[in-house]
Amino acid sequence: MTLNELSSHLSQEFQKVYGRPPAWIAAAPGRVNVIGEHTDYNEGFVFPMAIERYTLMAAAPATGTQVRIRDVQGTHTATIDLSQPLKPAPKGSWHNYPMGVLAGFQALGLSLPGFDAMLHSTVPIGGGLSSSAALEVATATLLELITGRKLDPVEKALLCQKAEHDYAGMPCGIMDQFISVMGRKDHILLLDCRSRETQLVPMSDSSVALLVTNTNVKHELTGGEYAQRRAQCEEAARILGIPSLRHATAETVNGAMPKMSDVVYRRARHIVSEIERTVHAAEGVRASNWPTVGQLMYASHASLKDDYEVSCPELDAVVDIALNIGLKGGVYGCRMTGGGFGGCTVALVDSSRVQAISEQIATAYEKKTGIKPTLFESRPAAGASVIKG
Ligand code: ADP
Ligand code: MG
Repeated sequence: MTLNELSSHLSQEFQKVYGRPPAWIAAAPGRVNVIGEHTDYNEGFVFPMAIERYTLMAAAPATGTQVRIRDVQGTHTATIDLSQPLKPAPKGSWHNYPMGVLAGFQALGLSLPGFDAMLHSTVPIGGGLSSSAALEVATATLLELITGRKLDPVEKALLCQKAEHDYAGMPCGIMDQFISVMGRKDHILLLDCRSRETQLVPMSDSSVALLVTNTNVKHELTGGEYAQRRAQCEEAARILGIPSLRHATAETVNGAMPKMSDVVYRRARHIVSEIERTVHAAEGVRASNWPTVGQLMYASHASLKDDYEVSCPELDAVVDIALNIGLKGGVYGCRMTGGGFGGCTVALVDSSRVQAISEQIATAYEKKTGIKPTLFESRPAAGASVIKG
């Protein structure tokens, strides 16, 4: 569904439930990271793009101090009382995300009025495509309309990140909120996680698209794998005598190999090579050099699998299938995207052959794993927008 279709559906449902039309409607997209994995907490580069999947939030003024929020289906509902200090609900409560954003606006010294709100989302929830940031950024965009206070994009993204930290209890990086705020149609965002500088890289060549495959597995981890990886990167940086692996090069890491355990060496090698690949991929996109970008994606996957050890058989299966389809079948490259151990892959494909490629991947993946994957394609979409208000 297009943004306009989603918005008119939401308006109709809003009218039915609240008995009046919404005064404001805002939208924010989910995202997929094209390349640059596990680089964010090493002060490196990431390269996300907004996808054509959105969370929309509609609202109308209400008397009193209550904020009523629900989704169109009525499966998620919440009432937040603005006359009380906003305290996080128990961990896992969905309304911690919008509540954290409300609290962020209050912290700016703005007094919020009561309102009735309804949301509608086509971003899969908990599927690694950042439904959480889409919800936060849609809420923030709505609150800009309600309060009349327009935030600077960086300030807005950081306010949403803080909501996720302080209210949802998720210590996430800055990527998801930055791309959901700053995405632009036909552009991918190169984000420097050290300086927070951003660069929108044009991808106007519509002969290619990104194809996302959800493996529909999420392996439960008990060994603190993420914390372990972070600690190993910090150890590598300590051995090298630098603040973070952003300051390292392939040469300095190789030179320090005798001082590192094999595992720490391989972790550092992934980070340093991935940061380099990300910068090169951005150059490749700028030059519409799709074979090069595709090769960098395959190399990223191999590094995540062998050096960083965060892949899993299902993610590897999709990448192997993509490799088999190959350039002659319209696939330039493919890699796991997100933290790993399940979730999604992202592939760069020939747009005119998306249908055939999707069917081939779905069939071969199910044959190999017994699991039905979920696939969708997207061109780079716009970031947060105002639909009404
Ligand atoms: P991801 O961001 O990858 O989708 P997260 O675990 O970070 O996964 O965020 C998912 C959580 O965000 C959900 O469990 C829910 O609490 C909240 N959420 C996101 N979108 C919605 C929505 N449309 N309706 C209700 N809750 C949502
Ligand atoms: Mg999330």
